[in-house]
Amino acid sequence: MTIPFRQTRSPNSNRGSETLDVAVPATNEQNMSRPGRLDICHVSKRYLVAGRPVPALADINLSVAPGEFTSIVGASGCGKSTLLRLLAGLEPDYDGEIRIAGSRIAGVSFDRAIVFQERHLIPSLTVEANVGLGLLGSGLSVAAKRRAVHDRLELLGLGGFAQAYPGQLSAGMAQRIALARALVTRPRILLLDEPLGVFDVLTRARLQDELRRIVRHEGMTTVLVTHDVDEAVYLGNRIVVMRPHPGRIVGIVPVPLAYPRNRSDPAFIRIRDRVLGVLGAEEGVAPIPAATPAVSLVPQRIAS
Ligand code: ADP
Ligand code: MG
Repeated sequence: MTIPFRQTRSPNSNRGSETLDVAVPATNEQNMSRPGRLDICHVSKRYLVAGRPVPALADINLSVAPGEFTSIVGASGCGKSTLLRLLAGLEPDYDGEIRIAGSRIAGVSFDRAIVFQERHLIPSLTVEANVGLGLLGSGLSVAAKRRAVHDRLELLGLGGFAQAYPGQLSAGMAQRIALARALVTRPRILLLDEPLGVFDVLTRARLQDELRRIVRHEGMTTVLVTHDVDEAVYLGNRIVVMRPHPGRIVGIVPVPLAYPRNRSDPAFIRIRDRVLGVLGAEEGVAPIPAATPAVSLVPQRIAS
């Protein structure tokens, strides 16, 4: 699915900065109100199951700087999708506060888009029409919509497929259409819920590079949920590790490596092992080394 639209930038604007490729920018007053900044402050969420409240998220605190790429990993059921849905504004019922550029979110917005593993393309509509669905309610003229759709198709390398139908395309191309539909709104914040989860290793690697290129081109703040630690390290400026019962953040691992990254680089492997260590610590699978300077086991706290 795709959420709203606001056309405030030229199609080729690059809101990102080269430095964001390796750095996690510092928190300060000015930064707090910058477009694309995301603050999650003491957020908790409960679901009612058989009449009883079941905690899905407990006191989540996290700040994401404008243009930063944050990966989230964690066992199934630790609340990753719930957190993304809250960030998208799809679930208004929660405790705490989510702020974008310093303002509390109120439902869905043209500034945020979310992409799921399921692509939700309509088989009877052309690629162009499917991408155009992202502009429903935008108030744009037909011509402006068409320009926006074609710009996104070009960006995704799908320029020649505007009149094709989803069933005529590979799964990888179909996921790129879903991404184009999300990006047609020119969001400042892109939320990705295991978008590459179903792909084979080669397709996945290609789509990861594609994702990196697009996020960099657009300068979007990005939050990627993935069960693939390798993918999390390959793409993220840092990795947020969550655990279930209730869903909470148990560690944040920075990834101070320049892009493009090399999966066989010893530094890459060390970071991946650290993330695996934090993930597995609860089960005693792989204890966290006592002194690992790059790992913070204390989630970032935010003044509310
Ligand atoms: P993840 O994406 O990390 O696998 P989810 O966010 O889907 O986790 O789920 C977190 C917890 O909340 C799980 O225990 C799940 O069963 C529960 N949950 C998620 N959605 C609902 C819902 N609509 N109603 C009740 N419980 C839910
Ligand atoms: Mg999920």
